[in-house]
Amino acid sequence: MTTDGTDGSDGTDDASDGSDEPTVPIVCEECDTQTRVPLSKLADQLDRHNETRHGGKDVAGVEPGIADRIADLAAEDMGLLDGE
Ligand SMILES: [Zn+2]
Repeated sequence: MTTDGTDGSDGTDDASDGSDEPTVPIVCEECDTQTRVPLSKLADQLDRHNETRHGGKDVAGVEPGIADRIADLAAEDMGLLDGE
């Protein structure tokens, strides 16, 4: 039983599991795509998508209806809603 991290996966890039960080759905109507990204990477992912796909235009965005909850998620992420 050796756990040498030879593949270098340290959970920094692929946050599909092993993380309790809230994720936020990003939608892009022009690309017809939807992606869930960790809250901490939301702005980064949005920027990158719009930069690389749409020349910096603000096309992709948080899924409508979810934006209201971002504030809650952010608060939770900061431990403001720690109700345990
Ligand atoms: Zn797009």
